[in-house]
Amino acid sequence: MIAYCGLVCSSCPTFIATKNDDDLARKKTAAFLSEKYGLSFKTEEINCDGCLSSGVRLIGYCNTCEVRKCGITKSVENCSVCNERPCDKLNKFHEFSPDAKASYEALVRKNA
Ligand code: SF4
Ligand code: SF4
Repeated sequence: MIAYCGLVCSSCPTFIATKNDDDLARKKTAAFLSEKYGLSFKTEEINCDGCLSSGVRLIGYCNTCEVRKCGITKSVENCSVCNERPCDKLNKFHEFSPDAKASYEALVRKNA
């Protein structure tokens, strides 16, 4: 599952822990998010069905993400096929997430 921003949700440890309903993986993911990003999650908060889901279970920032809201409004598969790309919203998120940027840029090249 590729998110609007380019992140590969299906490789995300939160998504995998949710799909497997694996509490040990949730605990490890919470520790990873704390160490790498300074984010504080309880084990039971590690739940996400991915950016393209209906949004009942999204984690942290993804709950309020303007890129996701915009992608849904525009009904694009992801931002790589949007005729307004790359917009300020997307650039701003990509400054925070080089992984998403790299995956997005690979999609743009693939679509060219
Ligand atoms: S909600 Fe936003 S940041 Fe999260 S995966 Fe989707 S587009 Fe990317
Ligand atoms: S306008 Fe920006 S955030 Fe919205 S779909 Fe297009 S590239 Fe993505």
